[in-house]
Amino acid sequence: MQIGIDLGGTKTEAIALASATVVASRRRIPTPPDYAITLDAIAGLVAALESETGRTGTVGIGIPGVVTHATGLVKNANSTWLIGRPLQADLEARLDRPIRVANDANCFTLSEAIDGAGQGFETVFGVILGTGVGGGIAIRQRIHEGPNQIAGEWGHNPLPWMTDEERGAALPCYCGKTGCIETFLSGPGLELDHVRLGGTRRSSPDIVVAAAGGDPFALQTLRRYEDRLARGLAAVINLLDPDAIVLGGGMSNLPNLPGAVSALLSRCVFSDTVLTRVLLNAHGDSSGVRGAAWLWPSE
Ligand SMILES: [Zn+2]
Repeated sequence: MQIGIDLGGTKTEAIALASATVVASRRRIPTPPDYAITLDAIAGLVAALESETGRTGTVGIGIPGVVTHATGLVKNANSTWLIGRPLQADLEARLDRPIRVANDANCFTLSEAIDGAGQGFETVFGVILGTGVGGGIAIRQRIHEGPNQIAGEWGHNPLPWMTDEERGAALPCYCGKTGCIETFLSGPGLELDHVRLGGTRRSSPDIVVAAAGGDPFALQTLRRYEDRLARGLAAVINLLDPDAIVLGGGMSNLPNLPGAVSALLSRCVFSDTVLTRVLLNAHGDSSGVRGAAWLWPSE
C-alpha cells in the first residue's frame, strides 16, 4: 500500500493506494501553521489510514518546497514554518520507516504522467497555475529534479517576449526579481491585470462570469492571459520540447484554456509545426496527493 500526503499551505490531504486503486478514503485536514503540530498531524493521518485498512504503507509527501539534498533541510517553501527544518528525518523517526518527500508541483506532474492526462507521453511538463505559478518535469514517468532541485520552476523566469506595456507594468515578485511569469499568470496576477485594463476589482471566477456575459474588460483580460501563457509555454517548448503539457491549479479551469493556448503557440515556438499537446489535468486537486503516493513504486 502506498500512502500519499499533500502538505499544502492551508490544507493537508492523505490517500492510500494499492495497485493504482484507492483503498482508504481521502482525508483532508487544515494545515497547522506550526512545525511540531504539522509532524503530529501527518503521523495522525498515516495512523488513521493504516488502521482503516489494516495494512502498513510506504509514505510519500508532497510539500510546497523541497528538502535540500546536501543538508536535509526544507527550502523554497511558502509555508514558512517548514523552512530550515529537517522534515524528512523528523518524520522518518516518527513513522519508523524511510519516507520520500518531493515538491508538490513535481507530485502533480508525476500523477498526471503516470495515469492522468499525460499518460502515454514520454516527456511531460506539468504546470500549476494558482495563487503561485510552478511546474515540474516527468521523463518516462519519473521526476527530473536537477542538482538545484528546481527543474520546471518556470514561474520565476521573466515573462518572455514582453511588450512595452508589459515592461512598464512589470511588478516586483516575492523572489526578489521583477516581471516574473508568476506575477502575470497567478490568480492575483490576472485579477490585477483586469484592474489595469480599467475593469472593476473582481475575483478570477467573477471575471470568468463577467466574460461569459460579454463584459469587454473581462473578455480582454482572459485573451491577454491566454496570450501570456502561450508565450510562457513556448519558451518551455523551445528548451524542453515536451510531448505533453498538462495544466493544473485553479486557473487551469479558465474556459477552453488548453485550446486557446495551443492555437497561439506557433507564433513563438521555433518550429513551423507544434506537435506538443496542451491538456487539462485528469485528476484535478487529487493529483498532488496521488503523485505523493506514487513517489514509491506500486507493489
Ligand atoms: Zn519571482
